[in-house]
Amino acid sequence: MRRLTVLGTCGAWPEAGRSASGFLLEYDGFRLVLDLGYGTFPRLSERCADGQVDAVVVTHEHPDHCADLSALCRARYFAPERGARLPLYCTPGVVARVQAMEPTEDLFDVFDVHPIPSDHRVGPFRLDTALLPHHVPHAGVRVTAPGLTVAYSGDAGADPVLARLAAGADLFIAGATLQGTAADPRLMNAADAGSWAARAGAERLLLTHFWPGSDRTRSTAEARSTFAGEVIAAEEGMTFTF
Ligand SMILES: [Zn+2]
Repeated sequence: MRRLTVLGTCGAWPEAGRSASGFLLEYDGFRLVLDLGYGTFPRLSERCADGQVDAVVVTHEHPDHCADLSALCRARYFAPERGARLPLYCTPGVVARVQAMEPTEDLFDVFDVHPIPSDHRVGPFRLDTALLPHHVPHAGVRVTAPGLTVAYSGDAGADPVLARLAAGADLFIAGATLQGTAADPRLMNAADAGSWAARAGAERLLLTHFWPGSDRTRSTAEARSTFAGEVIAAEEGMTFTF
């Protein structure tokens, strides 16, 4: 089974009934998590009981992308049988940020922490990352395996690197925090996301990281103005098979 599940779709903080950023990518039994923001762990647990996943990639240290690493840490730390340490690939700052919530347990007892890699094997995947503009160090992610290419911008700003990161992707997951002509070099608006999906030649564009309360149909329409391929607004629990 080769499937991506959306764990959360909100930027900044989770609005009622939703969660912040997170995705689960399953490939022939290997379970890779991309970001674990506020409120994503309960939905992850529906798929992977007791935090039983195989690797985690976190794009940056904003809590809407990493807060529930704390929940994952505790689920594995207090499991009846603590398994092997879980590979965690993340930007500098993530571990210290999450560790600061934890006065007693040591994240390094649970996670085998690695810097964000390039051309690195993670289970069945090749994992590539690239730094993108944001308020803090931020990695964009490209995951490839036979029959599957998924790229994820996190919630970074537009950068030419995106065209390479998402080149030919079956699915380009793009943070589309802003709408209309709102511009910030450290964030993308929906039209930006469409524009970079077009330049990358991505097949499908999955918009996510919506500002709480925003009209998602408007974001979708704006992305469609710059990208002729399929545009989808992410919803919690949505799945894609490959
Ligand atoms: Zn951020």
